[in-house]
Amino acid sequence: MRLFMPTRLIFEPTALEYPLGKAIYERFQDTGIEIQVTKSHNRITGLPGETPKEKYAEAKKTLVVGVRKTLEFETSKPSADYALPLITGCPGHCTYCYLQTTLGPRPVNRVYVNLDEIFARARDYMAQKAPDLTYFEGACTSDPLALEHITGSLHETIHFFGTTQDGRFRFVTKYDNVDGLLDLAHNGHTRIRFSLNTEKVIQKWELATAGLAERLTAAAKVAAAGYPTGVIIAPIFLEGDWEKDYGDLLDLLHQHLDRLALDPRRADLTFELITHRYTPKAKALITERFPETDLPMNEEGRRWKYGQFGYGKYIYDKDPMTRASEFFHEHIEKLFPGGSVQYIV
Ligand code: SF4
Repeated sequence: MRLFMPTRLIFEPTALEYPLGKAIYERFQDTGIEIQVTKSHNRITGLPGETPKEKYAEAKKTLVVGVRKTLEFETSKPSADYALPLITGCPGHCTYCYLQTTLGPRPVNRVYVNLDEIFARARDYMAQKAPDLTYFEGACTSDPLALEHITGSLHETIHFFGTTQDGRFRFVTKYDNVDGLLDLAHNGHTRIRFSLNTEKVIQKWELATAGLAERLTAAAKVAAAGYPTGVIIAPIFLEGDWEKDYGDLLDLLHQHLDRLALDPRRADLTFELITHRYTPKAKALITERFPETDLPMNEEGRRWKYGQFGYGKYIYDKDPMTRASEFFHEHIEKLFPGGSVQYIV
């Protein structure tokens, strides 16, 4: 797929004191791409756009390069212990994305250049939990692979975790530019998970991300490079002939692994399965930014559920949820007998 190129870059002056900040600046200084300066990466003003849709689109084309000052990591239960703060924001345009509600009206892409300080803090967290392993998630607020060709942050992070005893790293992606990661000494300490969905879902609601065949090829490549590999199917839409659509998707994954002579029974293949859900706030924002969307957000066939943080969301009714759980367990056990379904919600 075509890799993301920002329309404008905005630097915090202190970012240029770090090798990564300097490298990004030097790479773009003669490209003709607009470069601005800001006092704080948290205060970005003056971007073009009048309507909510225009403001959103312009922010997605903007890359902010800054220094991460808050080095208290957020927790990231249940998939990991902590969120590793490498990037906030994503150039993808997934209609349903959770970042719609968490990043405000101007969801710019922010990359943090003080990687050594972030890694030093990660070491502190590891020391607190040792000899137990500490797990860090790299995709809580972004898809870090979408910007890897500009930042190289994943390259550094995978290398760092490859050298630690007590730390494990994981991230999830809808992108495919994995070639620069294949030869790293990851030591099996990084799990790369690919977010997959049916062709229909990707074409309609996952714009500016890699296609299904590209993601499957990338998944097979990282599995062949010895990375613990995972699959996240999310959001699962229990609409239309969903059993056929998701059955075909699992068959395709099986074929891709098979083609590379990778054993589909491999024990390290994990599956995380998340059915579609939405909050009223997300529905309002999505409808404002994508007025023509046909994303299924009809309360009929859904039930209201309070989440762990006290806010409510619409999830599918009990019967389709039970059927989905049976369907995915059955198919995954048959096609990937060594793999494991970590959860389905
Ligand atoms: Fe959001 Fe992931 Fe899509 Fe990026 S790729 S817009 S993080 S869902």
